[in-house]
Amino acid sequence: MSSPQESDLATPLAPGGAVFKRVLLKLSGEALMGEQPYGMSPEKVETLAAEIKGVHDRGVETAVVIGAGNIYRGMEATAEGMDRATADYAGMLATVLNCLTLQDALEGIGAHTRVLSAITVSEVAEPYIRRRAIRHLEKGRIVIFAAGTGNPFFTTDTAAALRALEVGAEAILMGKNGVDGVYDGDPAVDPDASFLPELTHLEAIERGLKVMDTTALTLCMDNGLPIYVFGLDDPGTIDRVVAGERIGTIISTPRRDA
Ligand code: UDP
Repeated sequence: MSSPQESDLATPLAPGGAVFKRVLLKLSGEALMGEQPYGMSPEKVETLAAEIKGVHDRGVETAVVIGAGNIYRGMEATAEGMDRATADYAGMLATVLNCLTLQDALEGIGAHTRVLSAITVSEVAEPYIRRRAIRHLEKGRIVIFAAGTGNPFFTTDTAAALRALEVGAEAILMGKNGVDGVYDGDPAVDPDASFLPELTHLEAIERGLKVMDTTALTLCMDNGLPIYVFGLDDPGTIDRVVAGERIGTIISTPRRDA
């Protein structure tokens, strides 16, 4: 799906040839679904776990935020008459199921992981404590952030932006299903939609591009956090991004003093 483009000349920062030292990977719940209409596909979860471990094995401190669209979306339940805040809490709990599934798959291939949850579920995950998350990353554990921000009316995109900033990740790596980056329309319905290799956070907000919700984009813009958007359909794309290959879309805001 994704067309390889010229490799950029980014300087490796980690011993494994990666161009990042610490990243936050954002996956939607659908990334775990594979061909299934709902829930998780064990093969897909295994493939993703292997890709994430591969990134970590390059020496990149790796944090992950997963959504829950494969199980539950607060907005959809609200549309069917449920109270919005209650539906959102259910959505956050659904992310915990995905996090435990991914944790299990990662541990099964020898990775060390911790799930840190924004909603207390102390029997299955640690509570989210920022300094602890950073310590886990420094100790070489893959940190999986569960339960979004812990607040209704937000999304896991906002959780990704918030946690990435809190732990000092250099970038959000946003893996997408069914699309290899950002387009100026929906390529699934508009054959004339153009691929956008790079844009600023403000352009993404002003043009209403469906990449991340506006709260998350604003948070990234205000804090100069770049977002790398790429497709997950071809195996190995996360690794290619981490190795500095110029694929997908980069959303960033030039620094004023630059
Ligand atoms: N959610 C929430 N607050 C958060 C994160 C998530 O209320 O901080 C709820 C919300 O209902 C959302 C659901 O959890 O619809 C699942 O998250 P999301 O829709 O972001 O999942 P994705 O689309 O990434 O699979």
